Amino acid sequence: MEALLLRLDIYTLMLMALFGYSLGFLTLTLTWLAHRDIPGTLLWWASGLLAVIGQSGFVMQILAPFTAGLWAGNVFLITHVALTLAGVRCFFLRPVRWLVWWCGVLLFAAMMGWAFAVNLNVEYRIAISSLAFIFLSLLTIWQLVRDGWRDYRLAVTMMIGLFALLITFTLLRLALLGIEEVGSPFRRQLVNVLPYVTMLMGGYLSSIGVLLLCTHHRTLALRELATRDPLTGVFNRRGLHHMLGRWLGQERVALLMLDLDDFKQLNDKHGHELGDRVIQKVGRYLNERSDLVVGRFGGEEFVVLARWADEAAARNGCERLRHDIAAIEVDEVSITVSVGMDWMAPGEALSQALQRADQALYRAKREGKNRITLFETAVMPTAR
Ligand code: GH3
Ligand code: MG
Ligand code: MG
Repeated sequence: MEALLLRLDIYTLMLMALFGYSLGFLTLTLTWLAHRDIPGTLLWWASGLLAVIGQSGFVMQILAPFTAGLWAGNVFLITHVALTLAGVRCFFLRPVRWLVWWCGVLLFAAMMGWAFAVNLNVEYRIAISSLAFIFLSLLTIWQLVRDGWRDYRLAVTMMIGLFALLITFTLLRLALLGIEEVGSPFRRQLVNVLPYVTMLMGGYLSSIGVLLLCTHHRTLALRELATRDPLTGVFNRRGLHHMLGRWLGQERVALLMLDLDDFKQLNDKHGHELGDRVIQKVGRYLNERSDLVVGRFGGEEFVVLARWADEAAARNGCERLRHDIAAIEVDEVSITVSVGMDWMAPGEALSQALQRADQALYRAKREGKNRITLFETAVMPTAR
């Protein structure tokens, strides 16, 4: 492997790394143009641009070696990695602490400047930039895993793999500092070859990771649109069916049909707009209950599924819902709710169980509303 790597010519590698960064930049530009509204894409685009500028600083050394170019190359490339991290934070809607970010970047630029100014051994410069790269890469991995593992597994796995490889190469380079004597940056030795191999992979593949994140973001947003009710945020019919496949287990679950009482009257008296806000508030209350799975099927009808253990738990659970909904107020207008409930057996079709809950609801309405009725037997008639 080492023999193979040492056959590579440093000048060609430098140009290839620049080419890789340019392709990465092109990909990030297209990504930004296509997904401008997704947070983080502009930062990633700027990050790609900095990488091309930084690498150009190194390539210029081929024509005329000058220290400022080396300094700028290092600073721009590390800023590029720091901007990638900022883009990831932005993408996951976390605030970027720009003060900390700028302090970090300026500290690195100052340390590099100092290293060049006092003509510190090249080993120290390599160590400073390698450690900065490893630190930022670890932070990026942590950020990706923390916020993206659940919904963006493919992109996150790919990025972790890439960063792990890049960190390994960088560690290898650091280890080599103790073994090899570092000569001119153009000398064919592993310490000089490794960074360009790293850049070649990182420059392009990280932009593919960004593209994967963005396409997946779109898929998730479309799925959300297709499965949620826009007014309340609870599932619509399709969403509930989709959710049930994953949620139902081997236990029976309680299935509830909720219908707000005398809603037509409420609309007539206070206007449709207020009616909408009442539905919205009830829906949001139900949606915030993490123990329930909730769908909005009709105008002011909700379907609720709950994992209640027995009749007593169901009784308490339903009563709490009835009570909480009655306490909701919009412009001092409140509403009551009737609930029909039955158990849904494991493996049973939702439509079958819904029919029974609906019949129970019908009875609740007939018997005077603002009450909870179990299919066949009345669980809890409540005085109106
Ligand atoms: P009941 O107690 O028997 O349920 O009486 P109700 O007036 O609520 O009757 P029903 O459930 O049959 O009718 C629901 C009414 O809710 C019909 C419609 O005017 C109103 N509605 C349905 N969807 C919406 C909506 O999205 N927004 C508003 N503001 N009103 C709606
Ligand atoms: Mg209704
Ligand atoms: Mg109603």
